[in-house]
Amino acid sequence: MVLEQRGVTIWFTGLSGAGKTTIAKFLEKDLRKQKYKVELLDGDIVRQNLSKDLGFSKENREENIRRIGFVANLLTRNDVIVIVSAISPYRQIRDEVRLQIRDFVEVYVNAPLSVCEKRDVKGLYKKARTGEIKGFTGIDDFYEPPLNPEVECQTDCETITESVTKVWTQLKRFGYVHSEREALTPIRNA
Ligand code: ADP
Repeated sequence: MVLEQRGVTIWFTGLSGAGKTTIAKFLEKDLRKQKYKVELLDGDIVRQNLSKDLGFSKENREENIRRIGFVANLLTRNDVIVIVSAISPYRQIRDEVRLQIRDFVEVYVNAPLSVCEKRDVKGLYKKARTGEIKGFTGIDDFYEPPLNPEVECQTDCETITESVTKVWTQLKRFGYVHSEREALTPIRNA
């Protein structure tokens, strides 16, 4: 374990397909390689477990974020680096969570809707366009971008390596990691 590890929640927000999970997973691997204690809370996995009972209404989405924030806070105050990857579309609830967690780094994973839709990693945009899925963020539900994120990744014009390094550099600037990111993880579109 790294001596004197400080806990922090690194919260990735952005449209579906923007690149949250991709960046989060590489960051997790790189941190583990440098022996940091890390936990990744992925929105999709949380919804299959902790938030199984919740749908996608505004109230339910907010409750989902509140639960993720609660767990992230417990881990953060025990000096774990927590990575959250969740669309988290609404500004107010994100800001509520930010106020609860002492060490919080918001990462806006930004890509235009047209790019996310073209990627359509999970085939969900297609379903949203045909009306098979209702209330899909960016199509028939809104997304409120962060106003002052600590990091912004523009994944339509950055490589994955550039995006991961950008987050790492800020973590180092804030004193959560101590060394440079080692490019140990081979990244395909690097
Ligand atoms: P999300 O978790 O936001 O729904 P994913 O990470 O599942 O999105 O998918 C993002 C897609 O975009 C992946 O296919 C990834 O390879 C691609 N991509 C291209 N450039 C980047 C980048 N700079 N950062 C993250 N993902 C990128």
